[in-house]
Amino acid sequence: MAQQTLPAYQDLTPGKVYQQMLTMKEGTTVAELPVRIIKGIGEGPVFTIVAGIHGYEYAPIVAVQQLMVEIRPEKLKGTLVIVPVANMAGFYGRSIFYNPQDGKNLNRVFPGNPEGTISERLAHLITSDIISRSNVFLDIHAGDGNEDLLDFVCYYDNKQTPEQTSLARRLTKCAGFKYNVVYPFSLQASQPAEYAFKQATRQGITALSIEAGKLGGVEFKSVDATKKAVYNMLAEMKMYEPLAGIKNTENQIWLNGQDYIKSPGKGIFYSVLKSGDKIIAGQKLGFITDVFGTKLAEITAP
Ligand SMILES: [Zn+2]
Repeated sequence: MAQQTLPAYQDLTPGKVYQQMLTMKEGTTVAELPVRIIKGIGEGPVFTIVAGIHGYEYAPIVAVQQLMVEIRPEKLKGTLVIVPVANMAGFYGRSIFYNPQDGKNLNRVFPGNPEGTISERLAHLITSDIISRSNVFLDIHAGDGNEDLLDFVCYYDNKQTPEQTSLARRLTKCAGFKYNVVYPFSLQASQPAEYAFKQATRQGITALSIEAGKLGGVEFKSVDATKKAVYNMLAEMKMYEPLAGIKNTENQIWLNGQDYIKSPGKGIFYSVLKSGDKIIAGQKLGFITDVFGTKLAEITAP
């Protein structure tokens, strides 16, 4: 099967909405990538939104469902491209993180490989046909089925592209979340970006990610916060009329440090904390048991 591609956005009729199901194949395995293109009536940038790179993260998927219905092409300047569910097999297979077709995490295989497994081919298609055509690339996630989370918006501090990075910071601020996260950007030339929006950042595109929602639920507060963030960003880009009274940039908290704690062994983790709890070094975070309920280890904060 020849790989399908999207039409050139500049050839599309202003004021019209297009949709296409891109398909790709590896042996007998087929993957689909749904793409909606809303072509505005005025000149403007290409703003791309991707949801469902992780198919069990429902709040982002529901938010873009609503945005696709609400956003009017006749009020839009530029082009809005929406991938409502990037990992269709993960979504319909109710699979956290992984694509059940090849057991890979789509958000760890960017920039992808046109000759690789189905997730790698999907990542390659997103890189070459979706990311590359974007001026702004927004990848929306949530805490997955097993993840508690505080909603936040984030970008990479890529010092090689100061203009794009400063726009990413502006869009992060105007999104209206309480928590804004800035990741350092350091990638060796030989290192793959792994993450979709890190790949976009590497390509010199203004890229951001929202994390809103958690634990495999449709958290309507997070759906609303995500939609407001998109409207705020589109208004900041002068692509859409600002909606009244939705921007909240007061009392924001900027975070730029992270710590990851690896489990000392296989088992079941019981957290004694919830997302948002404040902790100090040495504090007990939870414990791990084996499948018989026997405590194996205590986990403390580094
Ligand atoms: Zn995710």
